Amino acid sequence: MDSVANEWDAIVVGSGPNGLVAALELATEGWRVLVLERADTPGGGARTAELTLPGFRHDVCSAIHPLGIASPALRDLRLDTVGVGWVHPDAPLAHALRPEHAVVQERSLTATAVGLGGDGPAWERLFGPSVRSGPDLVDSLLDPLRIPPRHPLALARYGAVGLRSVSSLARHRFRGDDAPALLAGLAGHSMLSLDAPITTGFGMLLGQLAHVVGWPMARGGSQAITDGLVALIEAAGGTVRCGEDVRSLGDLPPSRAVICDVTPRQLVELAGDRLPPGYRRRLGRYRYGPGVCKVDWALDGQVPWADPAVLRAGTVHLGGTLAEVRAAEHDVVHGRVPEQPFLLLAQQSLFDPTRAPAGKHTLWGYCHVPAGCDVDMTTVMEERIERFAPGFRDLVLARHTITASAMAAHNPNYVGGDINGGIADLRQFLMRPVASLDPWSTPTEGLYICSSSTPPGGGVHGMCGRAAARSVLRRQPL
Ligand SMILES: Cc1cc2nc3c(=O)[nH]c(=O)nc-3n(C[C@H](O)[C@H](O)[C@H](O)COP(=O)(O)OP(=O)(O)OC[C@H]3O[C@@H](n4cnc5c(N)ncnc54)[C@H](O)[C@@H]3O)c2cc1C
Repeated sequence: MDSVANEWDAIVVGSGPNGLVAALELATEGWRVLVLERADTPGGGARTAELTLPGFRHDVCSAIHPLGIASPALRDLRLDTVGVGWVHPDAPLAHALRPEHAVVQERSLTATAVGLGGDGPAWERLFGPSVRSGPDLVDSLLDPLRIPPRHPLALARYGAVGLRSVSSLARHRFRGDDAPALLAGLAGHSMLSLDAPITTGFGMLLGQLAHVVGWPMARGGSQAITDGLVALIEAAGGTVRCGEDVRSLGDLPPSRAVICDVTPRQLVELAGDRLPPGYRRRLGRYRYGPGVCKVDWALDGQVPWADPAVLRAGTVHLGGTLAEVRAAEHDVVHGRVPEQPFLLLAQQSLFDPTRAPAGKHTLWGYCHVPAGCDVDMTTVMEERIERFAPGFRDLVLARHTITASAMAAHNPNYVGGDINGGIADLRQFLMRPVASLDPWSTPTEGLYICSSSTPPGGGVHGMCGRAAARSVLRRQPL
């Protein structure tokens, strides 16, 4: 294609954090970039809206941003210059085992270990090396295909432990209930069985981030991250258009490169026989994971946790012991709706007063369910919260629920409600979406994929988008 005749050098399909970062990287290099987004507002999984009542600002998808604050891609973009501010709660995380007892993960590794009593020294031994490696190790983990790795020794040390399953590691390292439960909750974000290899690595990454950079939220909501990225793209001469549902690559105006912020299934639909049959077959073998049912609440006051320590935390895991989290996740990966689901909650308004009218509060939460599940988990979730916070239900002013099947309709990237863009087990963490040293490029010249279905996977960090843009710049210099 002739770049002189084209109005655009690059078209990005989808404006999730990865699409926006890809667009920004290219616009900054002088490319004329157009972003097309099917929804009415940009941002994909980084949006905030008054889902319940006026004045209550809920994060529609992502809420807590340890990956965002740690990400080299976002760090280098200086989002602070366009108004993005991180709000750190008093403590990153509380994991409630019983109504009257929660264990708190503090910013300080030592303080966390003290709270874990007899298992404190084992927690310090587990996390000490990676916490001491600090952001260097995080950079390497978020850039897993870089050759040579930036910090090979730290990575090798991490891999030796991280490849194990949480169930097995906890059995060997800890004696009490608190440390295994805390680790199980962290690993539960993987949406894998806690008996699966690599779940320790997942838990350790999130746990180490709590100690190294914290688990902040974006002031005003995750939408602020999107607004900041869009402002930077426009300042660099790029254009973002919403309400543009791209059905086929053939419908796009000509450009040198098309970068798709979509998952493999959609890429096949969009590109059709522009992709060689062998590559289409490989994409067809890509596996998606379980879904989530998400609920947002508008509350007449703060959640009356039986253990007041929970009020210090931005994120709350209502999971019980490791055995209980394991049982819930085991059900989910085997296609059953758990009776006692593992709940992931965030209480943004306790730390960011912009989220709710004075004296009122928001609560954000989801639980894992089988792929494509259309069961509304609101009642089950509320009953579980009520058990840990008697009086909670009386505070509910309004609620907004989105089931896993509705999640997929809301954003086609969440196939079956899978919020990570595909299972991130050991194989698909590295071979994402296919085995390649440059999985962001496709065999079709000028066609790229930049979503969380590429390394390093799910989360608001923009690393997939940055890597895709770098692949474009390497293969098709202006
Ligand atoms: C309920 C929930 C909670 C989460 N919590 C967190 C969290 O706390 N912290 C965190 O870091 N991450 C969290 N995530 C994950 C995070 O939001 C995603 O991993 C991230 O948004 C992925 O970014 P992406 O750019 O790859 O895709 P997305 O953000 O999904 O964006 C893709 C965009 O492409 C658009 N699109 C798709 N197809 C087309 C098309 N054909 N034409 C035009 N536009 C199209 C979509 O509408 C969407 O806007 C959460 C996700 C969900 C759903």
